[in-house]
Amino acid sequence: MPQDTQRVAIVTGAARGIGAATARRLAADGLAVAVLDLDAATCEATVEAISSAGGRGFAVGADVSQADQVESAVGKVVAELGPPAVLINNAGVLRDNLIFKMSEDDWDTVLGVHLRGAFLMSRAAQKHMVDQRFGRIVNLSSSSALGNRGQVNYSAAKAGLQGFTKTLAIELGPFGITANAVAPGFIATDMTAATAARVGMGFDDFQAAAASQIPVRRVGQVEDVAHTISFLASEGAGFVSGQVIYVAGGPLC
Ligand code: NAP
Repeated sequence: MPQDTQRVAIVTGAARGIGAATARRLAADGLAVAVLDLDAATCEATVEAISSAGGRGFAVGADVSQADQVESAVGKVVAELGPPAVLINNAGVLRDNLIFKMSEDDWDTVLGVHLRGAFLMSRAAQKHMVDQRFGRIVNLSSSSALGNRGQVNYSAAKAGLQGFTKTLAIELGPFGITANAVAPGFIATDMTAATAARVGMGFDDFQAAAASQIPVRRVGQVEDVAHTISFLASEGAGFVSGQVIYVAGGPLC
């Protein structure tokens, strides 16, 4: 796509993991990509990977749970790359604990980043999509939305994102904007490595144990999720909206 018609994507939590892989993939698909994370400096490796593959990336720092930072970051993206047409709400944190040990801060932090963050980013980005009469919003849910021991905060946030997605699809559909959720199962990233450490297992053993329970007999890789997001963000996916796609190597219910 020529530069002057190049669509702009924002990927949150894109310094590493699923977000970094998604930013690289959307850039390879031809989008200019704003790589957003807590600290712009940590985004440079992703931007560098995009540039060296011939794409266009821009690092921007913001805490997605803070309205003023979100507004300022989206403003910087508009000034540097142009108005966003694609938003991937991927930033996430874990504060796992059984409910009797879970603090209010653990609850507020997780709900704040995943749910409030997706709300603030979507609110800031959608006006640019409405102006363009085109938009693609993809929210990262999780298999944990169906319930997972030690994650009342995270599963509530991820289930909440599914309802949020369906409502966005209804409200924004008339403006050419789709909203979908991708719900990964076990994906090998720093996040699952941290979970392995928390339960006292080596990451290789933790992955092998998980793989044995997954129908395709392997854990997911970041590219598995990026591939699904790439489809949902594409021009041709305009009749797919309000859906939750599990990327989990088998059916979940
Ligand atoms: P990750 O490796 O931990 O990366 C998450 C990124 O989000 C980090 O770069 C982190 O920055 C950033 N971030 C955290 N809080 C933020 C905030 N307030 N504002 C902006 N950025 C923030 O996680 P991942 O495994 O790639 O997961 C990505 C998404 O997929 C998350 O929403 C996660 O819940 C979801 N997911 C993951 C899995 C899995 O198995 N990995 C499964 C299901 C769903 P810092 O490094 O500075 O903290």
